[in-house]
Amino acid sequence: MTIRTRFAPSPTGMLHIGGARTALFSWLYARHHGGEFVLRIEDTDRQRSTDEATQVILDGLQWLGLDWDGEPVFQASRQGEHVRAAEQLMDAGHAYRCYCTREELDAMREEQRARGEKPKYDGRCRHRSQQSEDAPFVVRFRSPDTGETVVRDMVLGDVEFNNAELDDLIILRSDGSPTYNLAVVVDDAAMQITHVVRGSDHLNNTPRQIQLYQALGLTPPVFAHIPLIHGPDGAKMSKRHGAVAITEYRQAGYLPQAVVNYLARLGWSHGDDEVFSVQQLIELFDLAQVGKTAARFDQQKLDWLNAHYLHHSEPAELVDEVARLLGVDTSNGPDLAAVIGSLQERSKNIVDLAEGARFFYIAPCAYVEKAVKKNFKDDTWPLLDAFVAAAEALPEWSPVSIHALISKVCESRGVNMGKLAQPIRILISGGPVSPPIDATLALLGRDETLNRIRDGRTNMAV
Ligand code: GLU
Repeated sequence: MTIRTRFAPSPTGMLHIGGARTALFSWLYARHHGGEFVLRIEDTDRQRSTDEATQVILDGLQWLGLDWDGEPVFQASRQGEHVRAAEQLMDAGHAYRCYCTREELDAMREEQRARGEKPKYDGRCRHRSQQSEDAPFVVRFRSPDTGETVVRDMVLGDVEFNNAELDDLIILRSDGSPTYNLAVVVDDAAMQITHVVRGSDHLNNTPRQIQLYQALGLTPPVFAHIPLIHGPDGAKMSKRHGAVAITEYRQAGYLPQAVVNYLARLGWSHGDDEVFSVQQLIELFDLAQVGKTAARFDQQKLDWLNAHYLHHSEPAELVDEVARLLGVDTSNGPDLAAVIGSLQERSKNIVDLAEGARFFYIAPCAYVEKAVKKNFKDDTWPLLDAFVAAAEALPEWSPVSIHALISKVCESRGVNMGKLAQPIRILISGGPVSPPIDATLALLGRDETLNRIRDGRTNMAV
């Protein structure tokens, strides 16, 4: 049997970090078993589904490296199949038309509450005879009144549901559109999904889906419900805990490998190990090691992993993303990969890299005031002039020769190197932080370095 898993997002918003983790677990399970991972865009809510949201989800999955097999299936295009399944259920006596009006349903619930019962549809239309042709109706699934439905979940174990608790579910709305539970069953069956991996917020739907499979004469897939992600305070992860959209993580400078590694460890473990390459995850991942309880989001751990992957990346691999976040033309400045190489050690994320790289491509015209006050004294400009004159005559412009030059100029005037290096740094970058001054100036180039120092005198004068 080929394992086939799926990710079935509704394109009504962003790709949520929880959705991304569900997709990752589903993808890892398929890849681990040499199976297939398919995508179904659940766009049946025509009002709220948008093409942009679909694109955001596809981009997010692509960015994380979660590739899917074949073309995504759009659920709305399968409505004919859903309606046919509902008709099959009606023909077999497993579903019926319900003509109850809103008022009738409200009154029914009111009475149930007054009797101290839990409100649920009482099945009164199961036996109601055919109404006039144009009376509006929904189609309800006739769920069994007795017995139990057991969800044999790969993560949560056996979960039993009392059938009497489940009322007759609407499967077709009055406009003829299918509801989630019908559509998902028909599509998972048609797409030959063997394992449904999804968030545990769907667990309560699962007994209904199992009943639908049975009534349709289909074999249910294996289910694996992944506990939700909680914030540090134990509440369901939401905006108030920080970023929840995958795009926000990308914009904040996280690397996809770090996010994948972090999300994999959020709920799944393999001993005490923290760092896993994607290849290792594929080899090691199994649903059996997914925890039953909600995982707590830990920003520090994610940041630590991100710095880890950033420090272990080749600069060339980071160029595109740094350029994207930098958003300036880098073609007239130093090689961006070389600039990244000089900044990598001191950066924690791509935003740090982009911000650190900025001055290499855009000369400052203002300077951090506090740094100027602290580092520019009466003897600073004479020292800078001596440096400029000697730099012009320097036969070779390299970190080693620049270092030697700064050291020589400072020695001849009896000052320490910081007295010269720090003012240079401020003049070329606008502030008091940059990678080592010799490497920075070498990257910037002699002409640009000396121009910036000369321009600094004018800029500071105004
Ligand atoms: N469209 C549903 C959601 O986004 C999918 C649920 C499922 O995986 O069955 O929550």
